[in-house]
Amino acid sequence: MSEPTQFGSGWISGVLSTVLGAIGLGAVLCFLNPSLFTMPELRGLYPLPYVRALLHLILVGAFVLGVISVVLRQSKILGLTGMAFTLIAALLGGSQVPIQGELRSGPFLGLDWFLLNLMAYSAVFIPLERLFALHPQQPIFRATWRTDLIYFGVSSLLVQLTTLLTLRPAMVLFDWASQPAIRHWVAGLPFVAQFVAILFLSDLVQYWVHRLFHRVPALWRFHAIHHSAEAMDWLAGSRLHLVDVAVTRGLTYVPIYVLGFAEAPVFAYVAFVSIQATFIHANIRFEFRPLRWFLATPQFHHWHHSAEPQAVDKNFAVHLPILDWIFGTAYMPRCWARRLRPPVCASVSHRLVDTPVVTSRAKHHKHAS
Ligand SMILES: [Zn+2]
Ligand SMILES: [Zn+2]
Repeated sequence: MSEPTQFGSGWISGVLSTVLGAIGLGAVLCFLNPSLFTMPELRGLYPLPYVRALLHLILVGAFVLGVISVVLRQSKILGLTGMAFTLIAALLGGSQVPIQGELRSGPFLGLDWFLLNLMAYSAVFIPLERLFALHPQQPIFRATWRTDLIYFGVSSLLVQLTTLLTLRPAMVLFDWASQPAIRHWVAGLPFVAQFVAILFLSDLVQYWVHRLFHRVPALWRFHAIHHSAEAMDWLAGSRLHLVDVAVTRGLTYVPIYVLGFAEAPVFAYVAFVSIQATFIHANIRFEFRPLRWFLATPQFHHWHHSAEPQAVDKNFAVHLPILDWIFGTAYMPRCWARRLRPPVCASVSHRLVDTPVVTSRAKHHKHAS
């Protein structure tokens, strides 16, 4: 992109117009066909008058920003795209679009789930990454952001399928292992005890599944997708092959199902894991001391993605670094945020962005096998 992107160039208004216009259009589609585009679990939770008011603001905002961008910017493409999305949304009914079709259960795409996730995560992580970046020179729309957004979008749209693939295998294959007396006792434990137990057991399983994905060449083919991310930020963690997601989540759910944890701590865990899996990829420079010894941080997981030979096949845990300490795969030198402490870290560089990670790891695996 050769045109300027600073404030006043029409770039920020153009990008915002396109993003808001797309969100508005997506929301209108959810109203037009809620059976196809919304999650049954969420349908009853929407405060519709407020959703419509917000949709109205989004569409008006997208249009006004599009006009501003078109006026300010030589290239009109961003502003016109945002305005076009808004106009299509308006023609389809805008914020007053009636809810159409009867609500039925059955196959659906989580378009509302995608829009909500996109708005929530970008509202939290984009400002954080702008204010406290590990790599401040890395823009929001860095190389291959589209690829990661597609992974993010597809996994959100296919939420019904991934939930099914997570829950069903454990229920079908491990029903024999489930003892009513144990399930009753576990479900009666205090919320915090159940939450911590789920965190530990699921990460223990996740640790070994993840390690196998690195060890076994046939599995590495799928997991290599995740390691092909060339830049680290909140969106990069979405880059996961469906097989990777299904196998890891399916096996992680086995102890949760067999031991019969109650619904509330399981839901809390699901929310926690999706936030933390995003957080550990974020372009945030904090080392989170002393928290980093108890909970996986961006520093911990960025090393997992690093191509440095000493960091290859390290830091497999998603939640608890103690698992890597126990099984001998922990790697946490003090050189991660070398920008902050150049003398300490002069000998080691963090070459994630400019190193072909997959090639390096593939080579490593060839040597190892
Ligand atoms: Zn990995
Ligand atoms: Zn990762």
